[in-house]
Amino acid sequence: MPVISRIAPLHDAMTAWRRDIHQHPELAYAEHRTARTVADLLRGFGVDEVIEGVGQTGVVGVLRNGPGNSIGLRADMDALPIEELADRPYRSVHANTMHACGHDGHTAMLLGAARYLAETRRFTGTVVLVFQPAEEGQAGAKAMIDDGLFERFPMQAIYGVHNMPGLPAGSLSFSAGPIMAAADRFRVILRGQGGHAAAPHSCRDPVIAAAGLIQALQTVVSRSCPPAETLVVSVTEVHGGDAFNVIPDSVRVSGTVRYFNPEIGALARQRMKAIIDGIAAAHGMEADYEYFEGYPPTVNWPEAIEAARAAALTVAGEDGTLDQAPRMFAEDFSYFLQEKPGAYGFIGNGESGELGCTGLHNPHYDFNDTILTTGASFFAALVERELPVG
Ligand SMILES: [Zn+2]
Ligand SMILES: [Zn+2]
Repeated sequence: MPVISRIAPLHDAMTAWRRDIHQHPELAYAEHRTARTVADLLRGFGVDEVIEGVGQTGVVGVLRNGPGNSIGLRADMDALPIEELADRPYRSVHANTMHACGHDGHTAMLLGAARYLAETRRFTGTVVLVFQPAEEGQAGAKAMIDDGLFERFPMQAIYGVHNMPGLPAGSLSFSAGPIMAAADRFRVILRGQGGHAAAPHSCRDPVIAAAGLIQALQTVVSRSCPPAETLVVSVTEVHGGDAFNVIPDSVRVSGTVRYFNPEIGALARQRMKAIIDGIAAAHGMEADYEYFEGYPPTVNWPEAIEAARAAALTVAGEDGTLDQAPRMFAEDFSYFLQEKPGAYGFIGNGESGELGCTGLHNPHYDFNDTILTTGASFFAALVERELPVG
C-alpha cells in the first residue's frame, strides 16, 4: 500500500492520538476534551488558523498556501452511548460511552493529514480541516453549516471518509450517486377501547388493529413504490398491553423509513397516512401519526467522485480502489453535500474479527490502527491533486 512516504512515520503518533481519543469518548455536543485535543494538536502542527466552537463543539483548522481554490476535509468526533465490552489498554474510561463507530480513527486520520500538509505545503490554495461534532443522530454537520461554516471558510468542495468493517483493510471506495439513505422516523398510536379479554365484542381492540397495520405498512414498499426505486419501511417497536387478560386502550407502533429519492420519501409518508387512517377507521378507533424527517440522503457529486477516485488510486492502487453499492444507513455528511460539491466514501476497516474489528455500533468494535496512515495519505493526495503547485 503506497502510503505517502512522509506520512508513514506518523503511524505511531497517529495511533497514540487515536487511542487517547478512544479512551476518552464524548457524546454529541459534549466533545469538549476531544475538541481541545484536536485544536492543541493543530496549533502545534503550525496550522495557520484554528477556530473552536463552530457549531457548538466543532473545530476548524485553516491551512493557507497562496491564492487559489479551497478544499474542505471532514472528520467527525463524537462517540455513542454504548458500554465498551472489549478489554483493551485504551478501553473507554467513561461508563456507557464508546467510540463504536470509529470517529476516533477519522479524527486521527485527518490530524495526520493536517500535520503532513502543514509541514510540506505542497499545494496552492487553502485547505479547511473540518472536525465536526454530533454525527450520531444530532446533525452536527448542520450545526456547523448553520454557524456559517461555508461563509466563514469558503470552499469549492468537501470530502469525508468513514471506516467500514468487512471491507479489506485500507481499501478505498468512492462510488457515484446516492451512497447513504435518508433516515426518517415515524410513530403511530392506535387508540381504541380496552376491556376484559373475554369480552372483545365490548372493546375496540388496538392489538388487532396494530397487527393489521404492521402487515399493511409493508405494502407501501411492495405495492406503491416503483420497483426500480429503493425504499425500506421497518416497524421496530410495538408497545401495548400489560396483562394476559386485558385488552389495552392503545398500542404504539414506531419505525424508520429509508430511501434515496426524496419523491419516494414523500410517497411513503403519504401512503402510510392513508393506510393508518384506513386501518384505524376499519377498527373504529383514532390514530395519531407523527412523522419526523431525519438526515437527507448522502448523494455524491460526479466531479468530486472522479477527484476522490483518482486520489484513492494513487494510495490504494487498482486492487484497493473498490466500488460499493449504496447502503441504507444514514450520515449527516449529507447536509454538506446539499450545499457544496463533494464526495463521501469508505475506507476498509478489515474483516470482522481481525484485530477485534467487529461491526459498527458493536460493543466490541475497534478502529483498525493499521489504516490510519492510508486515510491520511488519501486526504493528502486529494489536496495535492486538487490544489496543484504551479
Ligand atoms: Zn455511527
Ligand atoms: Zn460513524
